[in-house]
Amino acid sequence: MTWPAIVDRDPVTIAIGTSGAAPTLARLLRARIESVVPPAVAALASLGESWRARVKARLTHPAARARFWERFFEGPVGEAALAGDGPAAERHARDLLDGAASAGPPAGHVHLVGAGPGDPELLTLRAQRLIRAADVIVYDRLVSAEILALARADAERVYVGKRRADHCVPQQEIIATLVEQARRGRRVVRLKGGDPFVFGRGGEEVEGLRAARVSYDVTPGITAAAGCAAAIGVPLTHRDHARTCTFVAGHLKDGTLDLDWAPLAAREQTLCVYMGLATVRQLTARLIGRGLDPGTPVAVVVDGTRSTQKTLFGTLGDIAGRIASLDPSRPAMILIGSVVSIAVDIVDQPAARAPDRRPRERAPYPAHAAA
Ligand code: SAH
Repeated sequence: MTWPAIVDRDPVTIAIGTSGAAPTLARLLRARIESVVPPAVAALASLGESWRARVKARLTHPAARARFWERFFEGPVGEAALAGDGPAAERHARDLLDGAASAGPPAGHVHLVGAGPGDPELLTLRAQRLIRAADVIVYDRLVSAEILALARADAERVYVGKRRADHCVPQQEIIATLVEQARRGRRVVRLKGGDPFVFGRGGEEVEGLRAARVSYDVTPGITAAAGCAAAIGVPLTHRDHARTCTFVAGHLKDGTLDLDWAPLAAREQTLCVYMGLATVRQLTARLIGRGLDPGTPVAVVVDGTRSTQKTLFGTLGDIAGRIASLDPSRPAMILIGSVVSIAVDIVDQPAARAPDRRPRERAPYPAHAAA
C-alpha cells in the first residue's frame, strides 16, 4: 500500500490516505498536521520508550500505569521534551514515577455526568473533558451516538439502557457496576441523558455510591425541557405568560397517573412533561377537568435538539388526537402553556444550526392576552 502523504516523526508516523479519491486534499491535510505536531514529538516518543520497562516494573496496577503515561506525555515531562530540554524531561519523569510508585494503586472515581438532550454542542466543557478522560463509560438509551463517540477508542463502554422486550437493567445492577468499576481503580463516567438529577435516578446512584464509599461528583447537563424549549424558541417563563415552570413525570405509577392535579392546573404556568407520550390523553383530560382552558397551546418535541427533531403543535384539547404519527420509542417532551404560542417558525432545526430563524408570520393560536 502506498500513502500519498506522511508526517514522519520517527518513531511517530502519521499517514493520511484518501483511497485515491483526493491526493491533493491529503497533501493539504498533511501540511496542517505538520504545523501542529512539532518535530520534538520524536524525542518525546523515544523518551517514553526508554522509560517503559522501569514503569512496568514499578507500577504493577494497570490503572496506575495508564494514569502515569497520561501525566508523562501531558505534564512537565512532555513539556520539557518538546522544548528540547532532555535532562529536565528525565528529571521530571523520575519524580513522576517515584510519586506514582509511592502513591499505591489509584482510587477509582465515578463522575455522574449530564449528557444534555442529544446535540453534542450542548455538552458542558467539563462533561466533554470527563468523557474524553474516562476509562469506562456507563451509559443508557438517551445518550446520543455522537456524544459517545467523544470517548477514547480504548475506553470501555457499558450499556445499561433498556434491553430486549423493554426490560430495564435494574437500578441495583447499575449501581453494582459503577462500584465494581471504581474499585478497579478506574475513572468511571456515568453518562445520563439531560441532567443526571432530573428524572434520571441520579439520586439513587449517588446514594448507592455513598453506601459503598466510592468517591463521586456530579456534572449537570441541560435538561430536556430546557433543550427542547430552546430548540423551538419557547421561553419556559415569561412575564406575560408564565411565572411558574413545573417539571412533571408523565409515566404511570402502579398503573395510574398519580399526580397532584390542582397545582398543575394553575394558571400562568408552563408544564414540561417528561415521559408523557403514552399518558397524554389522561393527562390532558385531567388538566381540562381541573379547569385548564382546552385552547391552551401545547408543543410535543420528539428527539429535541437532534438532527431527527420533530415538533407537533396543538392545544390541550386536541393534542392527544394528533400524536398518533409520532414514534413512541423516541424521547418526547410535552410543553404546555401559553408560552408555546411564542414558538418560532422553523422549529425542526436545532437552535445551534439555525441561527437565522424568523418569527412566525401567522400565529398558530389566538393571541394570548397579557396577564
Ligand atoms: N434526565 C433527563 C430526563 C430523563 S427521563 C433530562 O434531564 O432530560 C426521559 C425523558 O426525558 C424522555 O421520556 C423524554 O420525555 C425526555 N427527553 C430526554 N431527552 C429528550 C429529547 N432529546 N427530546 C425530547 N425529550 C427528551
